[in-house]
Amino acid sequence: MARKQEEGGRSRGTKPIPGDVAAPGTPGTGEDICPDCQGCGRLGERACQTCGGTGKVIAGIAGG
Ligand SMILES: [Zn+2]
Repeated sequence: MARKQEEGGRSRGTKPIPGDVAAPGTPGTGEDICPDCQGCGRLGERACQTCGGTGKVIAGIAGG
């Protein structure tokens, strides 16, 4: 019984999306504007699949 339960879902929840390089909250990562939809969350008439329609993805933070 060592199952760890994640919690703390923010606006977009904890559902992994294709554009994420890591799970939300992972050290060294942070939200960034989706490179595919430029943060609008849509591609044409469809929701952007890269960011799941949120306009943001979890990306690694460049350390210089
Ligand atoms: Zn997007």
